[in-house]
Parts: sequence; structure tokens; C-alpha cells
Amino acid sequence: MSDSTPYFFRCSKFLKCTLFVTDKCNLDCSYCYVCKKNSSMSIETAKKIVDYILLNSPKDEEIQFGFFGGEPLLEFDLIKEITKLIKTHKNFRQYQSRISLATNGTVFSKEIADFLIENDIAVAISCDGPSEIQDLNRKFIDGAKSSKIVESNIKKAVRSFPSFQVTAVYSPDTIEYLPLVVEYLSGLGVKRISLSHNVLSKWTKKEADMLAEIYGLIGRQFIDSYLVKNPLYINLIDSKIAAILRGGYTVFEKCRMGTGELAFSTEGKIYPCERLAGSINPDEHCIGYVKDSVNIQMKSQEISTSARNSECLDCGIKKYCVNWCGCSNFFATGCYERVGPFVCASEKAAIKVAYEIIREIKDTSVFCHHLNGTPLMNAF
Ligand code: SF4
Ligand code: SF4
Repeated sequence: MSDSTPYFFRCSKFLKCTLFVTDKCNLDCSYCYVCKKNSSMSIETAKKIVDYILLNSPKDEEIQFGFFGGEPLLEFDLIKEITKLIKTHKNFRQYQSRISLATNGTVFSKEIADFLIENDIAVAISCDGPSEIQDLNRKFIDGAKSSKIVESNIKKAVRSFPSFQVTAVYSPDTIEYLPLVVEYLSGLGVKRISLSHNVLSKWTKKEADMLAEIYGLIGRQFIDSYLVKNPLYINLIDSKIAAILRGGYTVFEKCRMGTGELAFSTEGKIYPCERLAGSINPDEHCIGYVKDSVNIQMKSQEISTSARNSECLDCGIKKYCVNWCGCSNFFATGCYERVGPFVCASEKAAIKVAYEIIREIKDTSVFCHHLNGTPLMNAF
């Protein structure tokens, strides 16, 4: 590898590359952070990105291409074309490449399911929970409720791709219902549940004080699922258990902002993380653009995501904490390297619950794969 090789190809063994195939969406979620300009990525831009990634990445690098939006399935034909570009590229290596797609769950058909299965595309559907929670923040543009169609599509997805993930976003007004969300989704047959806090919300001490009890209840649901040999994978628990058992997050499980993650907007602007591409002032985080070729102007070495909070330096659980998540930090504190109080409280509560679970069910045979290196859910 030469000195002219872009920085993140020199320091990463895992590159996450997110493509905003469109910023159009049929929903109007109250917490949406995507800048909607009614535009989609051109196939020429997509080709330059795919070329750039596959021509520059070292042979031993794992690459994940992610289709994102807006609602990417509104541009299903474009997704098919880009998938073909990736899979027929001369440097495409099947065993080292993954493709994923994040959808709002309102667009689904047999043709889409067949394509995703045939091309081994990992699917994540967003659903905040039962109707009274989903319809609170995730309505169609005309104000119609989305819960019915999303629930129906999740049931179809359970039959089509048994290991797909559902991502549920929670806000201060819905955090208390998280155990209900887990119960609802597992009742639909979902096995992989990712609970994600709304990074744009104003989180206060009131919600932080609720976490120990809420996560304790989710921990109970997690244990019960193992005891009946029908395990649930819940990111906030699984990732902590795996991190504790492995002695901390590995370098590839941590945020790779600035070292192994790129997000491309529909118009070809480049960002160090998909969430920052849609922030209120995305140009603040723009690190380059795609024109005749891909131009990255970022001084990657200057983007550090190691927490600078003084209390983190001596914290006994820092190895298991996501205080390195640059975008969460930015939205909470305005600085990539400064953790907000809600994330700190959430990490402490989740790590405590994970310790208790390990103590309680570590001898249960069905739980043993955690000891053997289960991939972290939040690496999706
Ligand atoms: S589905 Fe996603 S892109 Fe669409 S409005 Fe909701 S959060 Fe935004
Ligand atoms: S738990 Fe809080 S204090 Fe400890 S490392 Fe994480 S953010 Fe820092």
C-alpha cells in the first residue's frame, strides 16, 4: 500500500460505506434527521463511489455497503442497478463484502423479498413498537398512521428473512414503553431488536433516572428468552455482554468515523457518518464530494472519537462503554469527543444489567455462544 492510499484504507480492516440512494420518503417521522431535497443518487455517482471503494480497499479489508435514505425501496430499480455494479465489479470479493438495507417497512413485495434474498442483502426495518407508539412519531406524509402496514410487512419479513433486524427508536415520550416494544416485536417473531435513542431529543435527568428499572425489565425479557431456548438478540444487552466477555470492544466494533466509515449523500457529498449527513447543518461535517472522481478533503487523523470527559479517564467500565460514538456525542454536546449525560447513564445501566445476566445464566448451554464470539448486534 502506498502513501497516497487514502488514510482510512490504511488504518481500517472494515469499511462501512453508506449510500443515500434517495432522500425521498413516504413517511414524515417527527424525529427524522434527513435533509429531504426530493433527490436520488445518479447511477454515475454510484458507479464512481463503488469504483473508488473497491479499487482502493486492500485485499483483506471487509466492506459493507449500506442502502439508506429517505426510503431506499422507493428507488428499488436503482438499488438493483447499484447491487449489480458492486457484484460485477472486478475487485468484488463475495466473502469479504456485505450489503445491507435500512427500510421504514412500508414498501414490500415478493419481488423485493426475492431480490434481497437472492443477493444476500441484510435487512433492517424501522418500527418503534405497537400502534400507539409507532403512530406517535412515524406517520405518512399525509398524516395517516403507518403501524398497520409496517406490522403486516414485519410479519412477511419474518417468513422471508428470519434473521432480519428491527430498529426501534425511542424518545423521552416513549422510553418508558421499551419493555412493551420488546414484547410486541418478539410476539411478531422478530429475533433481532435494536433499540436506539433519538439523538436529536433533549434528554434530561428524569429519563436517565428511569433507565435502571427499564433496562432491568428488558434484561429479564432477555433472560426469559434464553431460558425457553428462543433467544432474543437485543443490541443494548448483547453488545455489552459480548464486550464484557471479550474484555472490551475491539477496534473494529468501535465507531470508525474518520477511519473506516463513509456516507455519501444523494448529490455525492461525503460525510464521516450517516447520521451527520442529515444533521441540521450537514455542511459542517462534509469531508469531500464526488465529482469527476471521489475527492476526500478530510484530515481523517484530526477526527478523534475518544471521549475527553475527565470522568471517563478513570471510569472502571470504560472498556465496555460506547463513549466513542462521535455522532451521538456531537448531537448531545456539540463535540465528537464529549459524551452527554444521557449516554453515560444509559451505558452504566446497560453494563450493570449485562453483568447481572452473565452471573445468572452463564452456565446455560444455549447462552454459551456469547462466550464464543457472537458478532455484536450494533455492528450491523
Ligand atoms: S422513515 Fe426514515 S427517512 Fe423517512 S421520515 Fe422516517 S426517519 Fe426520515
Ligand atoms: S460510563 Fe460514563 S463515565 Fe464511564 S466511560 Fe462511559 S461515558 Fe465515561
